Order: sequence, then C-alpha cells, then structure tokens
Amino acid sequence: MLSEEFISSLSQRGCKAVIYVEYVPVTEESQDLAIGDPERERFSSALSDLRQNHPEIVFVSFPGDEKTSGGCIAAGRGFFHINSHGGAEPCPFSPYSDINVKTSSLKEALSSPLFMALQSQNILSGDHVGGCVLFEKKDQVEALLGN
Ligand code: SF4
Repeated sequence: MLSEEFISSLSQRGCKAVIYVEYVPVTEESQDLAIGDPERERFSSALSDLRQNHPEIVFVSFPGDEKTSGGCIAAGRGFFHINSHGGAEPCPFSPYSDINVKTSSLKEALSSPLFMALQSQNILSGDHVGGCVLFEKKDQVEALLGN
C-alpha cells in the first residue's frame, strides 16, 4: 500500500489522489488495534518519500496529517460529520450529536452547543494515543451531553 511499485502503478493508471485512513478505535477493547508511535513514524516517513517522488498525486493521511494541521479538525474546526439520521457529529469517529440538520440549518449545526463547547474548552487540542483525540477524551465529550 505504501510501496513505490504500488503507487507507481496507480500513477500510470492516472490516479491523482490517494487517501490513507488509519484504524481509529471506538471502543476500549479495540484500542490496542490502533497503530503505535513507532509504526506511525515509519508510516509518516514512507509517506513523505512518496510525496516527494510523486508530486502528480495528492496524498492525504487521516488522522496522521492532523499533526501538521494543528490537531483535531472535528466539530466544525475543519469539518463535521452528518450521520444517516441527520445528526451533526464532531467526526465519524466521535458519534455524538445534539443537533439534527433535518430541523436546523448547517450554520446552526456548526454552532451547536456541543461543537462550541468542544472548541472553547480546548478539548480538540492536546496529545493523544490511538490516533484520535476525541476518542481519548470521550468521557469529557459524553459529559458535555449529560451522558
Ligand atoms: S475526532 Fe479524532 S479522527 Fe476525528 S478529526 Fe478529531 S482526532 Fe481526527
């Protein structure tokens, strides 16, 4: 998946964008399945080489690129997620919602109490393990919703 041969073959077929999505745990039991720091470093180094060797392709690494983009970009800081029921969630990996776009505008969803609290209380920042800051702080997120 990160090999020069594989990416070259994609390039020869006209591929212009490659997106890598890390496994992000959403339960305590699956936390050890997330890649650790040594693997993340190797991944990042290989990706850096590919970016240099293949300027014709845009490489996106999620959530790996968050380190260079100032941390978690969920909850309207960069994007948010709408689930299949219309609930506006901080991120697909943080499935909590206090507003529904079936009954509110996207602008209202962007300033929902949950999103505002996540941004103003600095919950989106800070170090984390397992690839996702909101998973790491899910107790705080649930507390904001009164769970
Ligand atoms: S909630 Fe987790 S996976 Fe989603 S943007 Fe934030 S850190 Fe990344």
